[in-house]
Amino acid sequence: MQSTTRSVPPLSKSNGDAHRSSWIELSNDAFASNVQQFRQVLGEGTLLGGVVKGNAYGHGLEGTLRGLHHLVDVLYVITAQEAASIREWEQASHQTRRRVIVLGAISAEEALALAFLNVEVAITDDTFTGWGSAIREAGAPALHVHVHIDTGLGREGYPSQDVVERFGDLGQWHRELRVRGAMTHFANTEDVLEQGYATRQLAAFDDGIAALAQGLDLDDAVLEAHVAATAASIVLPRSRKTIARVGIGLYGLWPSRETRLSARLVLGRALELEPVLSWRCESQLVKTLSAGSYVGYGCTYRCRDETEVAIFPVGYFDGYPRALSNTGHVLVNGRRCPVLGRVMMNHVIVDVTGAANSGDRVTATLLGSDGRESVSAEDMAEWAGTINYEIVTRLGGHLARRER
Ligand SMILES: *Cc1c(COP(=O)(O)O)cnc(C)c1O
Repeated sequence: MQSTTRSVPPLSKSNGDAHRSSWIELSNDAFASNVQQFRQVLGEGTLLGGVVKGNAYGHGLEGTLRGLHHLVDVLYVITAQEAASIREWEQASHQTRRRVIVLGAISAEEALALAFLNVEVAITDDTFTGWGSAIREAGAPALHVHVHIDTGLGREGYPSQDVVERFGDLGQWHRELRVRGAMTHFANTEDVLEQGYATRQLAAFDDGIAALAQGLDLDDAVLEAHVAATAASIVLPRSRKTIARVGIGLYGLWPSRETRLSARLVLGRALELEPVLSWRCESQLVKTLSAGSYVGYGCTYRCRDETEVAIFPVGYFDGYPRALSNTGHVLVNGRRCPVLGRVMMNHVIVDVTGAANSGDRVTATLLGSDGRESVSAEDMAEWAGTINYEIVTRLGGHLARRER
């Protein structure tokens, strides 16, 4: 038994170094260029926050930190775990600590850990008493908090008029919970060309932060205000405030077509964003199917003529949407090649006639450019009936990420 065990060669845990899976490439130049664009838009008075929730919008937290950490002023995440991962990465790679703000809901246990890690948190409801007690009992350092005011998204926080009633007790915990700022999040800046609703949210926020400052007897000039995500930071200048929380834009993607149009009008110039991510895959097999052959589950595609196909070891498990069945395109040797039949869990079959020679391995660009052709996250989103945010965020956490 033992000798059998010993003779098994070790299997690599990361499947990225094998040619058997797809991989993601990140461009640090693109990160730097996007940061520069937003620095210009925001000007000197506003700090640049980078949102790295959702495994950095599917780009991979670690690779994104390598490209972005030193270029932004603040990092935003959703979970305590993500914040702890950033602190671990900073220590392991000898980077100076950046401010980190947790936007999501956390437990008292997590609040305590975050106080020790010098991570700040958003207060999204009025259950902060448990946090205060845990910190007091442990004699931990104070936790810096930001009060989330709900100005019309209907998600975290409470409306401006309830802020004092809900958060007045924070004053009793001022040694444990230091109120450093207040925030809100827009509901409708991306999908419209006019910002009426956002303007009303902004007015409600200004009321809320003033009420909070008065209720807690704080100087409202010292409270940080953070309101704008990517779209608002571009198209609604008054929302830039102390810190902008920029997510999708730093990855080089636009929140929407409307935002891109509005940006030109508001800025009076084109803002150039550069997509950071490419997704590629090497074929596991290239072969010829004869005329009349069917392709894939359900026999939804039939070859009219003899067809050169490449089988790629990538599928909906990895985040390649099944909705791209008989609809999507990939790039092979600079040519657009259609997806044939259904996208499967671990396989996609592509017509590479004229783009590849039988028997050769070929590399497909699933997302990104190859020569003069490109497939953007927006193209994929349109084919799949969703938005670019979902396309990139659903890229599997298991995929290998490389710097380009
Ligand atoms: C996700 C998120 C952002 C970033 O939004 P983008 O449109 O990606 O810039 C900012 N603030 C909050 C509260 C968020 O949840």
